[in-house]
Amino acid sequence: MVMKLTADKTRCIGAAACVGTSVSVLDLDENGKVMVLGDGIVPDSELADVQDAVAFCPVTALRLERRMVLDCPCGERLVGYGEDDMVAVARRHLEEAHPHLDYSRDEILALAR
Ligand code: SF4
Repeated sequence: MVMKLTADKTRCIGAAACVGTSVSVLDLDENGKVMVLGDGIVPDSELADVQDAVAFCPVTALRLERRMVLDCPCGERLVGYGEDDMVAVARRHLEEAHPHLDYSRDEILALAR
């Protein structure tokens, strides 16, 4: 399962508990706030440590989301990370490519894997 880490700098208080886990996808910026390195995709070998980093954060500034895929019948493969992102990606695609179609959040998530 592909997992992606995201960070909310507005919540981060620079406690640095997360970077103590020494994972390659996290560091602190010049202001002492967390930053996710690269695309945030977590190597399988670091998943347990990243889960610890997320759990250690005292202000829940870190989120770990699983990769979701929805294959639209038009041939477009839609990719999102976590349910909210998957729904947003699908709705953007529907607006742009199929404006006459309307799917609920539950319907979108039922089609995604
Ligand atoms: S543990 Fe949380 S608050 Fe501390 S640096 Fe990491 S993300 Fe920021």
